[in-house]
Amino acid sequence: MKRIAVLGATGSIGSQALEIIDANPELDACALASGSNELDRLASERGIEHAQVGGDLVALLDRAEPDVVLNAVVGFAGLPATLWALERGVTLALANKESLVAAGELALTARERGGGLLLPVDSEHSALFQCLEARAPETVHSVVLTASGGPFRGRTRERLADVTRADALAHPTWRMGPKITVDSATLANKGLELIEAHFLFGLPYEQIEVVVHPTSVVHAIARFRDGAALAHLGHPDMRVPISFALTYPERALTPVEPLDFADGLTLEFEPPDLETFPLLGLARRAGESGGTHPCAFNAANEVAVAAFLAGRLPFLGIAGVVEEALAAAGGAAAPDLDALIEADAEARLLAERALGTLVT
Ligand code: NAD
Ligand code: MG
Repeated sequence: MKRIAVLGATGSIGSQALEIIDANPELDACALASGSNELDRLASERGIEHAQVGGDLVALLDRAEPDVVLNAVVGFAGLPATLWALERGVTLALANKESLVAAGELALTARERGGGLLLPVDSEHSALFQCLEARAPETVHSVVLTASGGPFRGRTRERLADVTRADALAHPTWRMGPKITVDSATLANKGLELIEAHFLFGLPYEQIEVVVHPTSVVHAIARFRDGAALAHLGHPDMRVPISFALTYPERALTPVEPLDFADGLTLEFEPPDLETFPLLGLARRAGESGGTHPCAFNAANEVAVAAFLAGRLPFLGIAGVVEEALAAAGGAAAPDLDALIEADAEARLLAERALGTLVT
């Protein structure tokens, strides 16, 4: 029996994870955490002793002693749980990409000390993990992350000027929480995923490509030096990568149907429009600059997205805020967690300042 701590249990990933856990007698939810009071009902329905709304995730994990931490908290707030699992060698099923983007070096050092498994839940990274597993690194030519392009694919900047919160939240292929849905509309999500892939797979940025693939059937592709490319395909349904991470290496049954290739399936790819969606290029530059630039990118983006969702910032202002904050951020590498938390706080202040000049 695997005892799983589900962090972010009331969210999109968290509730799909509970569905997977409920359907599998080998899996048990031993702890639940959330930012919402809905958690109390979930925890009492299931008779789960270790349940917590807000508060210190580390204290909860210390008490619950799980075999697997499913980190599906949204944003930088998930970082303590990521580091807790990696330090102890407790298997980490990671949906919370923001923690790895912000603290990549610290996380990898913690993983080295802990020696446990880091299993990505993000669909593209779960796909790449499977395409790359047991391959010698020198045989890998490059990898490709696919992006749906979001609800505004094909638009010009002019046609993005008045888009609303509701427009941005209408994602064509995935049903997700509001923050990642906005990130998908700006392509910041693919920027975060680019940095996430760099840390997860140890690949330099020039070996990680992003292409737009509107139907989200191909999740990622690994290209090898002999000219072969391996792709991972499936319906866009997060229960597949969640189940993969929670049951690894078993690959359990899920309720998701296999793809029907005789049913007119076509696969289309196009390059991303970096001019209309500048956050993808900003993320790549932040990743290449290293140090705490990725942390600053993430922090500024969190502030800008929250402002957009609150109706304080127009859609195109999100990239503006991030660009301004990144240009002003120090970016020096963080030797420890305190320094990283400081870099995150600095970038949030810079983003708030940029908001002040951009808000209409
Ligand atoms: P969501 O907004 O639906 O859920 C977030 C969860 O985190 C909620 O339960 C919320 O209460 C909880 N939470 C927020 N702050 C917290 C805190 N300080 N302490 C404890 N709990 C807290 O978001 P989501 O779509 O489920 O995404 C969660 C994470 O998974 C994000 O990092 C996202 O990028 C990643 N992800 C999501 C999807 C998806 O399909 N939804 C796909 C890939 C990756
Ligand atoms: Mg993804």
